[in-house]
Amino acid sequence: MYTVCHHCGGIGEVPIPVLAVVGGVGRTATANRTCPVCDTNGRLTGMVPPI
Ligand SMILES: [Zn+2]
Repeated sequence: MYTVCHHCGGIGEVPIPVLAVVGGVGRTATANRTCPVCDTNGRLTGMVPPI
């Protein structure tokens, strides 16, 4: 029994918006960060309700 990680949706990574300056123009890009909740497993042992 496991619960799909409610933080990353089971992919093990969470997208984080980062401000990038490309060609002198600031724009928002996304980078992936290791999910701090499931530690890239994408699943949580047992029943874990979303907080
Ligand atoms: Zn996760």
